[in-house]
Amino acid sequence: MAHPFLNFVRLVVVATTFVRLAPAQQSAPLGIDPEIAATIASLKAFDNHAHPVLPPPSDKSDRNFDALPVDQMEPQTDPIGLRPDDPRLRDAWRALWHFEAASLPLDAAAQKQLEAARAVVKAREGLNFSRWVLDQSNIATMVANRVSLGPGIAEPRFRWVPYDDALLFPLDTTGIASVTPDKKQFYPLEDRLRAQYLSAVNLKAAPATLPEYLAKVVTPTLEREKAGGAIAVKFEIAYLRGFDFSDPSPTVAEKIYAKLQGKPRPDRVDYKLLQDFLFRYVARECGRLGLAIHVHTMAGAGSYFSIAGANAMLLEPIFNDPTLRKTNFVMLHGGWPFVREAGSLLQKPNVYLDISQQSMIIPARTLAGWLREWLETYPDKVLFATDGYPYSDALGWEEATWIASRNARQALGLALTGMVRDGEISRPRAAEIAVMVLHGNADALYQRR
Ligand SMILES: [Zn+2]
Repeated sequence: MAHPFLNFVRLVVVATTFVRLAPAQQSAPLGIDPEIAATIASLKAFDNHAHPVLPPPSDKSDRNFDALPVDQMEPQTDPIGLRPDDPRLRDAWRALWHFEAASLPLDAAAQKQLEAARAVVKAREGLNFSRWVLDQSNIATMVANRVSLGPGIAEPRFRWVPYDDALLFPLDTTGIASVTPDKKQFYPLEDRLRAQYLSAVNLKAAPATLPEYLAKVVTPTLEREKAGGAIAVKFEIAYLRGFDFSDPSPTVAEKIYAKLQGKPRPDRVDYKLLQDFLFRYVARECGRLGLAIHVHTMAGAGSYFSIAGANAMLLEPIFNDPTLRKTNFVMLHGGWPFVREAGSLLQKPNVYLDISQQSMIIPARTLAGWLREWLETYPDKVLFATDGYPYSDALGWEEATWIASRNARQALGLALTGMVRDGEISRPRAAEIAVMVLHGNADALYQRR
């Protein structure tokens, strides 16, 4: 039986075939050098960070696209680029689904028509749907930051980055969860993930001592993730606490663990020291295993997020820890609003950043400003990324990926155009840097061939 909206969708599709469609990903008239724009358009990207959702039949029930899904929080003031009346949505809907919106934001009836238009493509593509989405955005490989991969989100087009914040919280979290409404929601999600990690090593509760916890839970979890194809592990720690990781000795951490293990509402100051120890332990193990560490480094979703706590500069003691120099760190989202602080940290040999999320919400001209500064100083440390994510009914991971890919390429084009016009670099060097940002730096970082 035909879906009631399919007939409408067919009408829309027929109607739009008579409209001259803008080529997908076409550059807006920003004054980008045409040769540089053509080079950038010809390159298939490695997307360092995104959250693809499983294709049908699992698309509606899939929650593994994030360990801390941010769609159920108290309202915040959304940036323009995430609002349902963002005009760029029209371009993405037209390019992906041949869907024309009469007005923005969509009313309930138009939303149903959009969903029907999406369903037509999903039905046509089946399990190939996620790969099809990448093709529309000129992306060869996408890092899927998910609790787990699944049917249709698999290698080689998708690479896995799991979440490991839960490993830092082996004790009762009710005391630290009570600080804000967001944390009250997030910590039980971390507790659930930790229970999964414990059950994967056949445990029901964290072991009695810290050395046992490290040996029986933390290291085996990281090794299991590595064996499962992970290229990095992700920390959303800025949603849970600040980046101010101190450096307690193993003896101090062991004593705290022994004192607090199994007790309700452990002392917050002691618990923080234990988290600090565990973060460095995980980072050191990741270096041994050849896993990079991805850190959410940007103002985050939710009106209670501590932006000051996510200042990249607070990570400097971690980056300066000589025992962590074998661990590569990627500051996801380029540190916004602390973009200069983040850029300065690229001086550390094991530190990189990507432009995920910024590429969604910061328009190309503005993003090109600090992107240029980074490319003028450390061009081998900057990675293309989208943060395609199911933000809302209007802005799915598919639209977000498409919009961010176009915007990021425009920003890159603007930055390189400026550098060529000001005589800083040659045209061939601009092409080289485009390759580096779009996939070469990621190839080197993850040692891809
Ligand atoms: Zn993300």
